[in-house]
Amino acid sequence: MKSMKEEKWKNKALHGQYPKILEKPHVDTVTTNKWLSSNLEGKTEGLLIAVQDQAINTRNYQKVICGQQVESKCRMCSQHEETVDHIVSGCEVLAKTEYISRHNNAAAYRHFRICKDHDIEITDKWYEHQPETVMHNKDNNITIIWDMPVNTDRTITANRPDIIVKDSVNSTCKLIDMTVPSDRDIALKETEKKGSTKT
Ligand SMILES: [Zn+2]
Repeated sequence: MKSMKEEKWKNKALHGQYPKILEKPHVDTVTTNKWLSSNLEGKTEGLLIAVQDQAINTRNYQKVICGQQVESKCRMCSQHEETVDHIVSGCEVLAKTEYISRHNNAAAYRHFRICKDHDIEITDKWYEHQPETVMHNKDNNITIIWDMPVNTDRTITANRPDIIVKDSVNSTCKLIDMTVPSDRDIALKETEKKGSTKT
């Protein structure tokens, strides 16, 4: 019964795109689906599943799937088809505002976790955490640097990682630069991020 349902899901032209992506070799299906075991309300989880399946009322959905005579271009930029993918990661208007704040919020949460891991004193509430440019724990000699350009011998355009974890005891530096890509762009963005710091 379970595999029959899975097959049926995958064979749907629109809704089936998501389960097919999950089969790609770069996808870690356990962590990808971990959010389903959190304590979200049923209606919130249902909405997120519908978004993953691209079954929400976008203009493109109204026109292509429901066959309505409506404008299918994006309400924000009027340039591209208003699909879930476009809203989540392809709109130039949202890129200047919403995508930046989404990235910064996700990076701030990462910063919060790293500070906790290295016993740096911060608030207990991740959503109230405001990363400071430099945070230091003198006991273990760890410095966490937030969103600061790094001077390099050779020119590197991507010289501003989101977070740097500097370990003065072991003389190591960890550079963390993150992105919030759409499901379809994960492999591409990973290559971009790795490539941009190489010379
Ligand atoms: Zn748009």
